[in-house]
Amino acid sequence: MFNALLIERIDDQPQARLAEVDEADLPDGSVSVDVAYSSLNYKDALALTGTAPIARSYPMVAGIDLAGVVAASEHPEHATGDPVIATGCGLGEQHWGGLAQRARLDGDWLVPLPDAFTPRQAMAIGTAGFTAMLCVLALEDHGVEGEILVTGANGGVGSIAVAILAKLGRHVIAATGRPQHADRLRDLGAAEIIDRAELTEPGKPLGKQRWIGAVDTVGGQVLANVCASTGYGGAVAACGNAGGMSFPASVAPFILRAVTLVGVESVQTPRARRLEAWRRLGADLDPTLLDSLTSEIGLSEALATARELLDGQVRGRVVVDTSR
Ligand code: NDP
Repeated sequence: MFNALLIERIDDQPQARLAEVDEADLPDGSVSVDVAYSSLNYKDALALTGTAPIARSYPMVAGIDLAGVVAASEHPEHATGDPVIATGCGLGEQHWGGLAQRARLDGDWLVPLPDAFTPRQAMAIGTAGFTAMLCVLALEDHGVEGEILVTGANGGVGSIAVAILAKLGRHVIAATGRPQHADRLRDLGAAEIIDRAELTEPGKPLGKQRWIGAVDTVGGQVLANVCASTGYGGAVAACGNAGGMSFPASVAPFILRAVTLVGVESVQTPRARRLEAWRRLGADLDPTLLDSLTSEIGLSEALATARELLDGQVRGRVVVDTSR
């Protein structure tokens, strides 16, 4: 038996609880992993609170991320004892996930733990940090250099994007609705802090050119305004919807300033890009900075913390120690 955060459908509603699960009930997969740490992402919070139907079948073990050690393997690339990580790939959605002490999954979804990180640090990165790196890669693909805006900067994706971009020598402008944490953003390397309120009201189709690239975790009106103030030939990597699913924008930035809007998706990222993103995280993210943006909880605290995360009260990243 092992402990897991199990989501069941009760009275047609998803309900999560800490449960003891029989190992024999684990889904099929070529690799079994003793999970040491998981993490709490925005999507995990939606799933655990039942705010959105993230789980596609029930019962579902929650958790889109995991880090641990291979316990048994029929996969040629993973041997017993290897430290591994997994993010996305349908974990916690279509396939039992990482908020558990044990997982069994397809070995193709696993990535070797980069030498630069401990399992706990890898989960401080998790899907959020992986997505931040995908956004940075997307901006690099478009040749973007110069001033880069990061929205939702105090969130998980935003914090790590700020840290990576600053380490790469970019001038980072951090947009946040929590200016009380501005010092922490400066510690991560932000050169300028702007108030989220500057970006939340409907604006003109084209604004002053304020940055040449952006990582947007917010969507909605903010994304529209971010595009409107992106400089000629720049690019915006859009990965999130913390501020809304809509996109009330004009085509002006695209047809008059040759701005590119790049979509970023972390769950189905092809394996080669996945390995490249983790390689770059190992090279371009200072692991010591992770500690300053990480808090730790046990499995038993995940439900309460999920509610706080959706209320915007959580700063940075939350790692989950599955042993407690
Ligand atoms: P967090 O909750 O950690 O951070 C979200 C941040 O967005 C908050 O910290 C806050 O930043 C800002 N924010 C929250 N609500 C609003 C609002 N109403 N208006 C404007 N800003 C707001 O989440 P994550 O960083 O983990 O994820 C960020 C987004 O990215 C989410 O929408 C998530 O679903 C998405 N995501 C997408 C992925 C993909 O594959 N495309 C993968 C991972 C995440 P501040 O306090 O600084 O203002």
